[in-house]
Amino acid sequence: MTAAGLLGAGLLNVETSLLKAGQEVPLAPPDKQPTDVKLPDLPPERKVGIAIVGLGKLAIEEVLPAFAHSKLTRVNALVSGHPDKAKRIAAAYGVETKRIYDYEHFERLADDPSVDAVYIILPNSMHAEYAIRALKAGKHVLCEKPMASNVSECEQMIGAAKEAKKKLMIAYRLRYEPFNTSAIALCRKRAFGELKKIEAANDQDVKAPNIRLSKALAGGPVGDVGIYCLNATRYLTGEEPIEVTAFAHQPKSDPRFREVPESVAFNLRFPTGVLASCSCSFGTAENRRFRVVGTSGHLTLDNAFGYRGQEMSINLGDGPKQLAITPANHFAAEMDHFAESVLQNTPVRTPGEEGLADMRVIEAIAESVRSGKTVSLKG
Ligand code: NAD
Repeated sequence: MTAAGLLGAGLLNVETSLLKAGQEVPLAPPDKQPTDVKLPDLPPERKVGIAIVGLGKLAIEEVLPAFAHSKLTRVNALVSGHPDKAKRIAAAYGVETKRIYDYEHFERLADDPSVDAVYIILPNSMHAEYAIRALKAGKHVLCEKPMASNVSECEQMIGAAKEAKKKLMIAYRLRYEPFNTSAIALCRKRAFGELKKIEAANDQDVKAPNIRLSKALAGGPVGDVGIYCLNATRYLTGEEPIEVTAFAHQPKSDPRFREVPESVAFNLRFPTGVLASCSCSFGTAENRRFRVVGTSGHLTLDNAFGYRGQEMSINLGDGPKQLAITPANHFAAEMDHFAESVLQNTPVRTPGEEGLADMRVIEAIAESVRSGKTVSLKG
C-alpha cells in the first residue's frame, strides 16, 4: 500500500506522512503533551480514612485484617475503652497513637481530618448512640448488623444521617460477596422457574460470657444470626414479607439462656406466594445454609452466611452441579463499596432503610413468639 493508502486507511499519522525522502528525521520527541491522557476513575492515593469503633472479636479477627485487601479504605483511627489493647493494635496497623480515642471523648473525632467515616462494631445496644454521635460529628457511618435494638432507634439513625447529609450503610457483607450476589442474579433471571420456597438456617454454639446472651446489650439469636436468614429471603425474592409466625425455645435448664432464647424458628409469607422457613440457634453445632426452590429447580448455598467457605450447587432436575465462583474477602468488598459511595457521592446498596426493614420483621417475630399468633406486616 502507498503512503497515501496507509494515510487513508488510518494506519499512518499525518506527521509521519509529511516526511519526504531526504528530509531529516526528528530524533527528540515533539514538545507536545499527548491529548489522550488516561486518568484513573478515582485518584489512586485517595482512600477513605476509617475509625474502627469497638475492638472486639469481629474487629480484631476479621475487619482489621481485611484492610490489607481493601483498595479504597485505610484504618486511620481506633475508638476503644481499653488503651493498652488499642495501642498494641495501633502499632500493628500503623495507626498513630494520637488517633486512639475513647468513648467519653468520641466527639474529638470531629477534629480529626484523617477520619472520613467510622465503622461501628459495638454491642447491638450501642449502635444507635454511636452512629448518631458520629453523624453529628460530621462522619459517614458504616454500622454492623443488626442496625440497632429496635425500629425507633433505626428511624432516629436514618433521620440523623439525612440531617448530617452523610452516608449511613449497614454492614450486610453478603450483599457484596460473589456467592450470595450470584444467587440473587440467578433468582432474578428465574433460573429455577418461579420461586416458591426458601429454607434458611444459621446456627452456632455460643459460649458464655458473650454479648449475644445479654438482653440489655440487645443480644439474642434472631438479631445476631437469624437476621442473615431473614435478609437472604428478602434479597433472594426482592420482596418484603407480609406475614410472620414464629416459635422460640428458651430452656430453663441452661443458664446461658436466662435472658434470650436458645433457638427461634420463623416462617414468612411473601406477596407472590413464596413461603420461607427460617431458623436460628445459639445452642447447636455450626450450620449455615439456604436453599431456594423454584418450579423447575433449586439452588443450595452451603455455609451461606460464613465469612468464607461457601459452596453453591444448582439442580435443574438432572442432578446437583457445583458452580465455580471465585471467593472474595467479604469485609474488604463491603468497605470498598462504602468507600466508593463516599468518594463518588453515590447511594449505598445497604442503607439504613435496609436495616430498618429487617428490624420491622425482627419486632414482628418477637411479637409472634409472645402472642403465639401470626403477625401481619402489611401497611
Ligand atoms: P465482642 O463482644 O467481641 O466485641 C464488642 C466490643 O465492644 C468489645 O471490644 C468491647 O470491649 C466493646 N464494648 C464497649 N462497650 C461495651 C459494653 N458496654 N459492653 C460490652 N462490650 C462493650 O463482639 P463482636 O462479636 O465483635 O460483635 C460486635 C458487633 O459486630 C455486633 O453488633 C455483632 O452483631 C456484629 N458482628 C457482625 C458479624 C458479621 O459477620 N457482619 C460477625 C460478628 C459480629
